[in-house]
Amino acid sequence: METEGERRRERLSSRNPLTGDEVGDFPIMGPEEVRGLVDTARAAQAEWSRRSLEERAAALDRVRRLTAERSEEIARVIRAETGKVLGEALFETVVACDYLDYLTRTAPKALLARRAGTGWLSHRRARVVYDPFGVVGAITPWNYPFTISMSSVGTPVAAGNAVVLKPSEYTPATGQLVIELFAEGTGMENLVVLATGDGGTGEALIEAGVDKIAFTGSAETGKKVMAKAAGSLTPVVLELGGKDAMIVCEDADIERAARGAVWGAFYGCGQVCMSVERAYVADGVYNQFVEAVVAEARRVRTSDEPEAMVGSLIAPFQLEKVESQVRDAQTRGARVLLGGRPIKGPGHFYEPTVVVDVDHGMDLMREETFGPVLPIMRVRDEKEAVQLANDSPFGLDASIWTRDPARARRIAGQLRVGSVVVNDHLINYTIPDLPFGGVGHSGFGRVHGLEGLREFVRPKAWVEDRLALKREPYWFEEGSSGEGLVRSLLKFRHGQGTLRRVGAALGMLRGMKR
Ligand code: NAD
Repeated sequence: METEGERRRERLSSRNPLTGDEVGDFPIMGPEEVRGLVDTARAAQAEWSRRSLEERAAALDRVRRLTAERSEEIARVIRAETGKVLGEALFETVVACDYLDYLTRTAPKALLARRAGTGWLSHRRARVVYDPFGVVGAITPWNYPFTISMSSVGTPVAAGNAVVLKPSEYTPATGQLVIELFAEGTGMENLVVLATGDGGTGEALIEAGVDKIAFTGSAETGKKVMAKAAGSLTPVVLELGGKDAMIVCEDADIERAARGAVWGAFYGCGQVCMSVERAYVADGVYNQFVEAVVAEARRVRTSDEPEAMVGSLIAPFQLEKVESQVRDAQTRGARVLLGGRPIKGPGHFYEPTVVVDVDHGMDLMREETFGPVLPIMRVRDEKEAVQLANDSPFGLDASIWTRDPARARRIAGQLRVGSVVVNDHLINYTIPDLPFGGVGHSGFGRVHGLEGLREFVRPKAWVEDRLALKREPYWFEEGSSGEGLVRSLLKFRHGQGTLRRVGAALGMLRGMKR
């Protein structure tokens, strides 16, 4: 009989979107191979979890140093697989190194067992210890193939887990680099292992007996991941798409807001989960803002040169999505003030595009675009801006542009999102101590910060002896439900007046002596 390895001869060819050249050739792994990887990783995890928190932190620091040393090579592979500009590819390594540094410094303290209060059981001791899950399945997207994979692997590893990484089918070579860095930094070949393939491989990983799934990708796939994980009640963290709004108030520095909007919308060719995808601008400054945005956007250089400002979209499907959303908006009355067309290849380029006269009936204002398009909408006031920003199934990030900090806080408090930035955009992800994640269709659970670290441990509660008694006063008493003791306990802990409480305590002690 054929083995699965023989049956699944399909291969995955990673191609450069700028040239069409093959970057690498990888297997599309099926369920049997993936289960084998999970078993291998589980064996390594048993050893890794015995290492002290400090040893693990030192290993992560080695991974950081190796990443910094190999950053130019890593950036070249990222660029080859995604078509992004060199500066952006290189920046992925900086964000990864900063985050590893954060883990190195924070994890040993954050994951230390902690003393807990004992409530009414003062003769006991209580502790919380943070157990690793075991093997984590990390499924990652192509848009930040290095940064996101490093974070999706680094966090569980810091917490004592092993990881099976399933990178996007567009970026397996970048995934391979992540595996190499962790193997060298930890000195363990099988602690972090690579499962290459497509969505089918991702599904196989969810069903391969992993203890937790860390998924980053689209909301559509996120729903499938959650449904599949429900079969085995495997917990999931879902980091999904966005439709980020920027709100420009009348008192904003309009020149700055316009420059920020252009950067926030077009950086990474708009293929960032927290790209600016909608701008709501107060009536009084709308014309000035739009004019400044168009002038600024004209300066954005899109090309296949490594030094350009904006590179290629990942693949034809992405170009088609952008084109179709802009076309749909135009047929519904939107005006394209700049761009609005694909740029001839090689590569999958689309002009930086500014669109006005948009409304929430258009896909462009409701669906994730993931391309270099900035739709701008006029609003009456702050209230309407908040209402429109929240009128979305997504809720990842938002930004508020104003000179008034009190106004910024007032608006921030009303936005249904995971992160808010004032007078800037995107940058919150690069601050390692900040939790990152979404609301609604943007997912749940957090990466980064203490909250992200705790996603990969199971808090285990321990109760131990402080004072060993022969028997406990609350155990079964012959012929009694212990109501006398319970009444005394209630008076002692929650009664009014010191005397009554002391009396109750004495009553309890008498009860215990009996
Ligand atoms: P995607 O959902 O198509 O794929 C993500 C990963 O899931 C890939 O590795 C893919 O092979 C795998 N996959 C596909 N089908 C699967 C299935 N049925 N079961 C298991 N795994 C499956 O997303 P993408 O196109 O690679 O990435 C772009 C999306 O990711 C955008 O929506 C973007 O906003 C989002 N994203 C979110 C964040 C965040 O942190 N919130 C960060 C980056 C990207």
